[in-house]
Amino acid sequence: MRKTYVIGNWKMNGSKAANKALLDGLKAAVPAARAGVEIAVCPTFVYLDSVVAQVAGSPIGVGSQDVSEYDKGAYTGEVPVSQLKDIGATYAIIGHSERRSLFGETDEWVAKKTVAALAGGLVPVVCIGELEAEREGGLTEKVLATQLDAVLAAIPAPVPGSIVIAYEPVWAIGTGKSATPEMAQETHAFIRNYLKKGGEEFAAKTAILYGGSVKANNAAGLFAKADIDGGLVGGASLIVEEFAGIYNAA
Ligand code: PGA
Repeated sequence: MRKTYVIGNWKMNGSKAANKALLDGLKAAVPAARAGVEIAVCPTFVYLDSVVAQVAGSPIGVGSQDVSEYDKGAYTGEVPVSQLKDIGATYAIIGHSERRSLFGETDEWVAKKTVAALAGGLVPVVCIGELEAEREGGLTEKVLATQLDAVLAAIPAPVPGSIVIAYEPVWAIGTGKSATPEMAQETHAFIRNYLKKGGEEFAAKTAILYGGSVKANNAAGLFAKADIDGGLVGGASLIVEEFAGIYNAA
């Protein structure tokens, strides 16, 4: 009914040599596509073109870690959707918590980027998530609702299946403190229910990925939950055995 995604966010890591070694290992570990399960890696912008070339003919897709909301012109340092499409990218991670907290991205900005990605034919992987203090303060649902509202307001009639959501509790990112499958499922169920604002079918068909310290040894438990449709994977996506193990758990 909806697809499962395992997407690697390489963050600001990699080099020509390291990427080649990682991709050679992944291509060997993931030789064939599996029905209903998508796998992708998201390197930094400078390596996107060469990574697309290296994964050609494999089931591995490619995405960017960010995208501009602008089309073209005088926006120094920005990378538009059209160029990402031009080089063969499929996905764009949008609104990662590191962009929100370190680079000041607002909900409105995330919404504009999501609109641009959809308009240009990239699959937006829209990241949402609460801080540790927000969870402890009982604010998780309020925070997620606000983040989702910005996107839903900008896209009033979303096409079912066109957007991927990544729920990443900020306290679980890079900390080794993954949410338990039960805790994650509870939040994913809230998100799915909230997405009904965009229509029943949209809610049912939107893949909601979990992110935050997903590893080969905890992926199966998370992915077994009804509303967890794969993972957005940081650290473990840089290790062939880990990332392949996560993909195989999906
Ligand atoms: P992590 O990162 O898997 O290293 O916790 C996830 C993310 O930031 O997308």
